[in-house]
Amino acid sequence: MIRHGLFCRRFSLFKDVVVGTRDLLSSYSSGNFDGFEVVILGTSGAVPTPNRGVSSTAIRLEGEIWLVDAGEGTQLQIQKSFISASKISKIFVTHLHGDHIFGLPGLLCHMAASRSPSAPRVEIYGPSGLRAFLRSVFSLSSTSFELAFSVNELVLRESHYDYFKQWNTPHPQFASGPLASARPFLPHELHGTDISCSDGKSSHVWNVLETPQYRVSAGLLQHRVPCFGFVFEEKEQFGALNVKRCADLGIPTGPLLRELKQGRAVSLANGSVIAPNDVLGPSRPGRKVVLLGDTSNSDSILDIGKNCDLLVHECTLPRSLASEAFARGHSTAAMAGWFARMLNASNLVLSHFSPRFDALRDYQLLVQDASAAFGSKNVLVAQDFTHVPIPRKYSFPCLS
Ligand SMILES: [Zn+2]
Ligand SMILES: [Zn+2]
Repeated sequence: MIRHGLFCRRFSLFKDVVVGTRDLLSSYSSGNFDGFEVVILGTSGAVPTPNRGVSSTAIRLEGEIWLVDAGEGTQLQIQKSFISASKISKIFVTHLHGDHIFGLPGLLCHMAASRSPSAPRVEIYGPSGLRAFLRSVFSLSSTSFELAFSVNELVLRESHYDYFKQWNTPHPQFASGPLASARPFLPHELHGTDISCSDGKSSHVWNVLETPQYRVSAGLLQHRVPCFGFVFEEKEQFGALNVKRCADLGIPTGPLLRELKQGRAVSLANGSVIAPNDVLGPSRPGRKVVLLGDTSNSDSILDIGKNCDLLVHECTLPRSLASEAFARGHSTAAMAGWFARMLNASNLVLSHFSPRFDALRDYQLLVQDASAAFGSKNVLVAQDFTHVPIPRKYSFPCLS
């Protein structure tokens, strides 16, 4: 039987993976860009090592860069890579642990130096407390910089406390006293929004943002503090307009064609209704990438991250320390592989390794563990500057 489908087989992204810094990648990056790439800037958990920076991942899109997390030294990692700080338009923060945010203040200063003060604002998204963190750092250090930015906080409900209460961690949204107090706005800070989780069944999912091309949602992960995984989804793109068919159907040029190109049916003066499928070629499905923060349970991502092209999952500790990993709100390679299988992900990248891994030097074992649980060989252990292009998908026939 011939079946048209996107997910009838897993395809490997990793034949196109390149690892390298600015010089190595400059020619590669200019000639092969297909509109959606992931660049892992830092792969160490907790602290940087001589070989690995801490957490930060860039998503390179048409004309802009989105960043997920900014651990200590992220601005340096960016300068070593081909990523341009001036193109960073959005920053997503998974959680407030230092290895994910200690580089953010410095990065914002670096970005301010590389952009015009009149450039569009930088939008930052993350957990409650992120505004207080940035305001505290910049006001206490008397740092001024000319960068318009706003912080949009993902607000929790009381019931979300269950995700981290076993660790008894105080959190700004639930604490009283100085942690919860609002500090004054910074000079170039613009009003951000408070984003509540969606209602109903998906009560641990946040609809973070939507642009004409992309949709970003977040799910709450189990970790020692409130921690999010982000799903970056390119919207389906409508197919090309068949101009001859439009003329044959008597559709006048102008606004009606624009409506059809955007997927909306139109009515003609003679009363006939033209559906987009009548005049558009096959649509092109979007691409989907899931980037998780630290986690020992990511079930809330299952619905929104299903069938992703790429899952980037933490892998903090080796399997010999599985119980410690779970107790500390982290994962092993097998846990990451199992979650990739649950998501029906096409590819899995492991990252966020404990510095203890550098002593073990056995990353191949991680691939084996993850592959066995995943049921796929499409597993990669990230290095700093691992660069994963996400090729466009087409509806293609395949045998099943
Ligand atoms: Zn971490
Ligand atoms: Zn953490």
